[in-house]
Amino acid sequence: MSEWQNWSGSVVAQPQRTARPKTAAELSAIVTQSDTLRVVGAGHSFMPLCATAGTLVSMADYEGNITIAPDRQTVWAPAGWGLDRLTAALWAEGLSLVNQGDINPQSLAGATSTGTHGTGADLGSLATQACGFRLMQADGSIVECGPGRNPDLYEAQRLSLGLFGIATEIRIHVLPAYHLEERVERRPLAEVAARLDELGAATRHMEFFVFPYSDDVIFKTLHPVAPEGEWKDGKDIDETIFRLVCDLGAASNMMIPTLQRLMMRASARPSRRTGPAYKIFPSERSIRFEEMEYELPRANGMATLLEAIAHIRRKKLPIAFPFEFRLTAGDDIWMSPFNRGPGASISFHQYARMPWRGHFAEIEAILQAGGGRPHWAKRHSLTAADVHRMYPRAADFLRVRETVDPGQKFVNDHMAELFAIGAATRAKAA
Ligand SMILES: Cc1cc2nc3c(=O)[nH]c(=O)nc-3n(C[C@H](O)[C@H](O)[C@H](O)COP(=O)(O)OP(=O)(O)OC[C@H]3O[C@@H](n4cnc5c(N)ncnc54)[C@H](O)[C@@H]3O)c2cc1C
Repeated sequence: MSEWQNWSGSVVAQPQRTARPKTAAELSAIVTQSDTLRVVGAGHSFMPLCATAGTLVSMADYEGNITIAPDRQTVWAPAGWGLDRLTAALWAEGLSLVNQGDINPQSLAGATSTGTHGTGADLGSLATQACGFRLMQADGSIVECGPGRNPDLYEAQRLSLGLFGIATEIRIHVLPAYHLEERVERRPLAEVAARLDELGAATRHMEFFVFPYSDDVIFKTLHPVAPEGEWKDGKDIDETIFRLVCDLGAASNMMIPTLQRLMMRASARPSRRTGPAYKIFPSERSIRFEEMEYELPRANGMATLLEAIAHIRRKKLPIAFPFEFRLTAGDDIWMSPFNRGPGASISFHQYARMPWRGHFAEIEAILQAGGGRPHWAKRHSLTAADVHRMYPRAADFLRVRETVDPGQKFVNDHMAELFAIGAATRAKAA
């Protein structure tokens, strides 16, 4: 038995067995021999999605390569590959992902399973780009699903939290390879709030970071451009200064407002760089933090962010990290928090060395009052009753789950609680 931890260190588990299968035969043997099993990608989720006392499987070494469709609009890719490996392989073939999030170590399956997203007023999450899955099921056999094949399983699997089997390969939409221009600059929060729609429409990707005690934001845009010169490394937030700000703030909470204003003064110089999309999308995130994120109807996003900031200032809460504000398109995925139309995404972070639970509960109440629903991989306190109230298709999701995994092989404690899976069986046993 070895210990497993997620990226932030807040989830610890003791799986009875860990496995890194290379072939379908090896994976099938592991699945059929295990009573209970979860798959881990890069372990970047903040909720205990991967925690298990049974078998913990990594698909990182699983055989396979990318297969490009003749029309070059979709690609079958190994589900366990990191987005870093996948996007480099796509680039070598003249292809890019439609959108990416802040970082790229996440596995393709982990990212799609949780609705991982980037920013862009008209761009959906990575789950919206997945259009086919090959899944190893509880009996060790592989099934394929897509819009025209096992459509119910496909609809559920599009944002699955790992409940419908082990994804071995995922078919994903791609675009011809493109370059991006990144611009980062300081702007007043009041100006960004007043012009949000216009700013969001002006570039393909727009987002900003705002420290709760600063009146300015770090405003970032990405926009497709023609290839230009050599690619230069760069950063949206200078992590050397930021780490110092976090450590000083953790040692003396009273200094946090002053430190954040100084940090923003140090970020005054605008920056610009261009390069291959897959190199420009991801940023460095080496300072450990804990995160909660809610997806709100677009119309409520800015007002709710301003209310959360006002709450932190009023109560003088010691929050070392900035909020991140992004835009997303709506989708039609059963369990997607974006399935009500255009969204605004508000991420609330805290330095991992500082207390976060109480603060998250206070801000979560504000984000929920703004009509928000949580990112499934990030901290939230939803109950099964909340899930059913917020998601009209949750019953369909669970009906399909019961069909493909009646023995609850892929269910861990967190999934059982969140979806009340096996509640009746548990009550009888107690
Ligand atoms: C520093 C940092 C930055 C982040 N930035 C963003 C961001 O910009 N946008 C965003 O939306 N999120 C972001 N996240 C959240 C992150 O994208 C999600 O937690 C994502 O799920 C992580 O991918 P992973 O491979 O680590 O998945 P894991 O956390 O390992 O797993 C996530 C889920 O996927 C399931 N799973 C994994 N592999 C398989 C498989 N082969 N078959 C079936 N199920 C599988 C797991 O069982 C689990 O339920 C960030 C997280 C961190 C720590």
